[in-house]
Parts: sequence; structure tokens; C-alpha cells
Amino acid sequence: MKPLDAARRPGFPLRMPAATSQTGATKLIAGHAREIDAAGLKYTQKQPQKPVSSAAKGVATGLGLDSQAVRARMVQKLAAQGVQDSRVLAAMEQIERHRFVDSALVNQAYEDTSLPIGLGQTISKPNVVARMLALLREGSVSPQGKLGRVLEIGTGSGYQAAILAQLARRVYTVDRYRRLAREAAALFHQLGLVNITTIAADGSYGLPDQAPFDRIIVTAAAEDPPGSLMEQLKPGGIMVLPVGQSDAVQSLIKVTRHDRGYDYEELRPVRFVPLVEGLGSE
Ligand code: SAH
Repeated sequence: MKPLDAARRPGFPLRMPAATSQTGATKLIAGHAREIDAAGLKYTQKQPQKPVSSAAKGVATGLGLDSQAVRARMVQKLAAQGVQDSRVLAAMEQIERHRFVDSALVNQAYEDTSLPIGLGQTISKPNVVARMLALLREGSVSPQGKLGRVLEIGTGSGYQAAILAQLARRVYTVDRYRRLAREAAALFHQLGLVNITTIAADGSYGLPDQAPFDRIIVTAAAEDPPGSLMEQLKPGGIMVLPVGQSDAVQSLIKVTRHDRGYDYEELRPVRFVPLVEGLGSE
């Protein structure tokens, strides 16, 4: 694996917070997380639900979007574009992307494009979702082929978390907008995705109460990988995230934690909304 060249990327190697400031940050978020629980902003699907078909719910039928064939075509295109991980492709064939976009945009749901989801945020394009998930599945997975505990920062529409829920035993997904977290949690519930916990919080601090994680995926760009997230990765764990200024070229980075440090691999240019500090206004 190629360590990131510090000379090419100012800001690397990573500026890890000093031990004292890290402890401070952890305390802060622990208190913060309790407030969030008290305010009812943690959403867990406790009752296993039977998956309900779109037709049964009367959603977007007649547009052909509830047909498996539409997703099979999307997945064929992803494979032709070089996505090779069959489990990722199978999960993407299963999850109905049109359920995660605004009703006015459903006819674009299976195009390889990002789409607005409100509050200035976007659902990532399928190609980027597939590539990030394939990277996350590199390294060791369980004999059943499942990832263990995965943390996603940037729930957005919930689409990527829903796919992750097929690939991992447990998914924790965090968004700074309560509205997005609430809407995504409702959708997970409807879809019977019982292994996702949705939390409204500033994800830059991760989830110290639930750490460590086998995998972490971030779907909003920071200037450097956040130190708290690095700390919350298990040894042997992998984090995939976009890094760079929001209005400049960002790169997709794969971070692997070893017993004695981290490896960085810079992969491809990407474009994500910025990772913003603090809870959102809505
Ligand atoms: N994965 C999403 C796309 C995410 S868009 C999907 O599949 O639809 C990026 C998301 O990151 C936005 O919803 C934004 O609100 C969220 N975000 C930005 N900064 C954040 C932060 N500090 N903590 C948690 N979420 C954040």
C-alpha cells in the first residue's frame, strides 16, 4: 500500500490531536450524545419489520421504478465501469434508490448522477457509492462475508446506509441535520432495515460511546481526516473518506489502521459537500 506523500499533500501526515484535547473532545461528545438521546434524536428500529414491496406501499408504481430490471441495468452499467465487488453490486440491485430521492426527481433515480435531497445536500451518485463500499470491503470480513460494526458520517438520504445494512452486521449513521436523520430513520423502518441506528449529531467527533468500529465511511469532505474518527477505528480497520477543500479538487482517501499507525492511499478525485461542524439548524 502506498503511504500518502506528505510533500504532495500539505496537511499530511495527519495532524492528530494531542491526547489532552482528544480526551476533551470525547467528554464533550459524550455529554452531547446524552442530550441527543434525551431529546429523542437517536433513532433505532427496534421492531423487526417485514420488508414491504413498493407496490404494496403504492410508491412510484407505474413508472417502472419498482421493477428489479431498472436496478439490474444500473448495476450492469456499474460493472461495465469497473466495479467488481459482486456483494456491493447485489446490494445495490436490491435497494430501491428512488425511495431515497424527492418524488419530483424519481425518474432520474437510476441515472449515474447525484441529486438534491434538500438543505443544500445531495445523494451521491451510484458509481461513487459503489466504489466507496467496495473499498470498505477490502481487508478482512467475517466468514459470512459481512463487515462488523460500521460508522457512516453523513446519512443524507439514507441510501448509502441502506446498502451498507446489507453488507454489515450493524450500521451507525450520523447526520448533523435532525430533519435528514429523522426522515432517513423513518425510511429504514418502513424498509425493515433493523440493523441501522440513526443519530443526529456532529459526526466529526464520531460516536465515542459505540467505538471502536471495523469500518468508517464519511460522505462529506473535511480538509484532513478527523482525528476522532481515526482514533475510533479498530486496528486492521479501514476508513474511506473524501479529503480536500469543498470548492477545490477533493480526493477519495483510504485509511488503514495498523497496530502501530495508519496507511493512507489517495485514490481518485471526487466532489462532496463539506463536513460542517455543529448540529444543523433543522
Ligand atoms: N450518504 C448520503 C449522502 C450524504 S451528503 C446519501 O447516501 O444520501 C453529505 C451529508 O453529510 C449531508 O446530509 C450533511 O448534512 C452531512 N454532514 C455534513 N457535515 C456533517 C457532520 N459534521 N456530521 C454529520 N453529518 C454531516
